[in-house]
Amino acid sequence: MTEIIDGNAVASDIRAGLEDAIETLADAGARPGLATVLMGDDPASETYVSMKQRDCEEVGIEPHHVDVPATAPPIDLYETMDELNENPDVHGYLVQSPVPDHVDYREVIRRVDPRKDVDGFHPENVGRLVAGDARFRPCTPHGVQRLLEAADVETEGADVTIVGRSRIVGKPLANLLIQKADDGNATVTVCHSRTEDLAVKTRRADIVIAAAGVPELVDGSMIGDGAVVIDVGVNRVDADTERGYELVGDVEFESAKAHASAITPVPGGVGPMTRAMLLYNTVKAASQQADVPVELP
Ligand code: NAD
Repeated sequence: MTEIIDGNAVASDIRAGLEDAIETLADAGARPGLATVLMGDDPASETYVSMKQRDCEEVGIEPHHVDVPATAPPIDLYETMDELNENPDVHGYLVQSPVPDHVDYREVIRRVDPRKDVDGFHPENVGRLVAGDARFRPCTPHGVQRLLEAADVETEGADVTIVGRSRIVGKPLANLLIQKADDGNATVTVCHSRTEDLAVKTRRADIVIAAAGVPELVDGSMIGDGAVVIDVGVNRVDADTERGYELVGDVEFESAKAHASAITPVPGGVGPMTRAMLLYNTVKAASQQADVPVELP
């Protein structure tokens, strides 16, 4: 029987585990606050931002939000960020990507106060992560690690193949999994768009993590018997549904499941974990800034 790893359940445990810490911080006058900044009116980004706001409200984190018009000069966004960097009620914030083309996203990442960088994208935080001293683990890679842990999947000594080398998923995840740590100690192969013989690399892995943004790229023929499959991908494909599309992962679920010992679904796998780990980072940021130690789940 293949185990279906339930991301909603694991995420819900983590959110529940944050509530005590949030109350401790609130009692000390430092209720955690998370701000989202949205530049432009991309409908998918609007949905993501409102989900993050709702997640905050549900666990007792104070949500803040700033809209910046799509056509505003970059300085308007930077000044908004400077204000958030100074605002003591905001312990963490993020600028929803993508930003409009006339804004340099690298500059946006550099402008965030690294202590409030709950996405974990600032170069200082990337450097700390690579050095084995992460301040904030980026949300999706951390969520993947927590899913593996919850499913009792040992990473130590495991051969892991990651499909995708992005700044937000593949690269940080590879760095986390090779750390000398209980949830690391893996041997990692990172594949990307120029990799040759992808199937050879995925088939030999004990754990396959797909984060390529290509619908159903990884099928059952690419999965070794008994491997664990984590599907990070979320892709909208045209479908005869009310919304006109459906969400599919980077893994062809049914054929991969036939070979896997455990697999995450899309939706309901990595997605809810990413959201939970953003709340986790916000609580961690508040604890650090208020200098109030709390126990994190
Ligand atoms: P990206 O486009 O930044 O990076 C994709 C990576 O995949 C690149 O490194 C590219 O080299 C590699 N790639 C592309 N085609 C490939 C191929 N045919 N073979 C091998 N490698 C290939 O994407 P991203 O931001 O890392 O996101 C990847 C996917 O994960 C997307 O579907 C995205 O929506 C999803 N995602 C989900 C969550 C979540 O919370 N569930 C979070 C972040 C991203």
